[in-house]
Amino acid sequence: MSGIYVHIPFCKQACHYCDFHFSTNLGKKEAMILSLIKELELRKDEFRDEVVETIYFGGGTPSVLNTAEIDQIIRAVYSNYTVVADPEITLEANPDDLSKEKIEELGKSPINRLSIGIQSFFEEDLKMMNRAHNAQEAVACIAMAKLYFDNISIDLIYGIPGMTNERWISNIEKALAFGVPHISSYALTVESKTALKTFIDKGLIPPVDDELAEAHFHILVQKLAEAGFVNYEISNFGKPGYFSRNNTAYWQGKKYLGIGPSAHSYDGLRRGWNINNNAKYIKAIAQNELPMETEVLSITDRYNEYVMTGLRTIWGVSLERIKTEFGQKFYAYLTQQAQKKIEDGLLYIEKDHLLVSKKGKFLSDGIAADLFLVNLS
Ligand code: SF4
Repeated sequence: MSGIYVHIPFCKQACHYCDFHFSTNLGKKEAMILSLIKELELRKDEFRDEVVETIYFGGGTPSVLNTAEIDQIIRAVYSNYTVVADPEITLEANPDDLSKEKIEELGKSPINRLSIGIQSFFEEDLKMMNRAHNAQEAVACIAMAKLYFDNISIDLIYGIPGMTNERWISNIEKALAFGVPHISSYALTVESKTALKTFIDKGLIPPVDDELAEAHFHILVQKLAEAGFVNYEISNFGKPGYFSRNNTAYWQGKKYLGIGPSAHSYDGLRRGWNINNNAKYIKAIAQNELPMETEVLSITDRYNEYVMTGLRTIWGVSLERIKTEFGQKFYAYLTQQAQKKIEDGLLYIEKDHLLVSKKGKFLSDGIAADLFLVNLS
């Protein structure tokens, strides 16, 4: 089983914290769609023996496309690849694009999962982050989406400067009141070369406070557990039956094809990434060239990646898999490095799997980094 990711590299406006690849100039939208379709055709042999289980429209803002444009891309997937009978087809969408008419149309399209970028229900947070939608649109689009979609995920951001615990709790409670079955939630991070970084450096916005983010994370975990959500990956919470099939496959190391500028691909041994420039991407595809760089992952890279993603999920790191796939040296290194963390109550072993404890959860990336290997191969 494998997945196809399609990157739609356009946004209406730039959120202050964002370092993803996108352009606010939609002038090349039609040419981009034709290029995405052509890339799907050009790369079909890479998935000759694969069955596609998930199609994921990410970005950027995929909801800037109209339903006919989305359908065109989905049709190109079906004409060039073998797709399971019940694929998960996700569209990332922003509230300002989700009019009643658009949601109705999407409800009739093959899209069967909406991932809505709410981020906050409070005007002051949305303004600070320069989101294109307002608080009223955030509420209205979920209410409308619920009429046409069962499988809805919403994104929320915590640790925003000025966001009190009470405001964060209120955000979570508003999300829960809609009865959505999936929530993805990330701490606001300050990436270099973003407007947010500049504003903080100039003292116009207070810096992001790690302690505040950690407090918000613990509130989130507790509130969502009480509401019946499973925290199946550190930033992802789903009701049983609603875990993202796309992301789960990715965390479990399955193959995926990344279509579009800046999209990443993985075939089990190699990682590839497309050029992150819309004009150069369109030009290369027009010349039947794939604007992609690749690297073969060493056994150490694959071990590090498995430890990192495994520790972020409820499935943990299988010690048996470490032994069989990576060998005794890696197994000995991992168990020896993990020992101190186990003694400190940050990790534990259950049924031959290494897992992060409740105490270690917020720190899981740092814990994983301490288990990484640099040069053993
Ligand atoms: S809508 Fe998403 S991709 Fe676009 S600028 Fe905002 S965070 Fe980035």
